[in-house]
Amino acid sequence: MTYWIFVVLVLAGVAIALLLPRYRLKKAVEAPFPDEWVAIVERNIAIYRNLPTPLRMQLRKLIKKFLHQKHFTGAGGLEITDEIRVTIAAEACMLLLNRKTNVYPALRYIIVYPSAFVVDRPQGGAGGIVSEGRKGLLGESWSNGKVILAWDNVLHGSSNFVDGQNVVLHEFAHQLDSESGTTNGAPILAGKNCLRTWASTLSGEFDELQKDAWKGKKSLIDHYGATNPAEFFAVSTETFFEKPAKMAEHHAELFEVLKCYYRIDPRDWQTQRA
Ligand SMILES: [Zn+2]
Repeated sequence: MTYWIFVVLVLAGVAIALLLPRYRLKKAVEAPFPDEWVAIVERNIAIYRNLPTPLRMQLRKLIKKFLHQKHFTGAGGLEITDEIRVTIAAEACMLLLNRKTNVYPALRYIIVYPSAFVVDRPQGGAGGIVSEGRKGLLGESWSNGKVILAWDNVLHGSSNFVDGQNVVLHEFAHQLDSESGTTNGAPILAGKNCLRTWASTLSGEFDELQKDAWKGKKSLIDHYGATNPAEFFAVSTETFFEKPAKMAEHHAELFEVLKCYYRIDPRDWQTQRA
């Protein structure tokens, strides 16, 4: 008898351990989107008011999920507020609209500095000497579940959605890219049609950008994208969301491939004034 009571208790414990997180997530998603959060996204995310209502509703749901699952930490003396959490979540979740996907399943922590941050990194020197390099950074994406951001730059990027520069879109595009196992500019693709054109389009456009960067020729896609295919995907994502009309005009094939991947057309709600 005691044995069966023990078995029942263990099974109940396992069931609770499995179901409780799901129940809590469901409750968090079903909870009303607070008015204060609406005010934050309307104030800080320049294109939020232009989004069609269904996308706005989707975004709110994704934000609630994101904020339930991810942990924010302030660094360099920054205190994490709802404004910081909601603004970052809103921008990060823009990349997930209309897509059947989890909310950055590998991501656990978002670390936010007040402004450009300095990291000490070991760098290989000549003759095997390791020296500490010092570098000011605006954002970083780690494949082991971490994104690091500079808040002033986040705010600048979210309030100007037409200049093609957006550190949150950039770093979270790296997160999507890393979901395929390696951060190499080839994220998991949704459909066969995307897959067919992805490799050829990206490599052709990447070569073009590298040539432009090398010649110092101005281009719609920032030259930083010529660094490697992973940066090309992240920078192209920024251009796709912030300069969709110009991208569709000058890089039509790349625009179509990204439209296929992101399953939205930012021209629908972007008013190009850059
Ligand atoms: Zn990058």
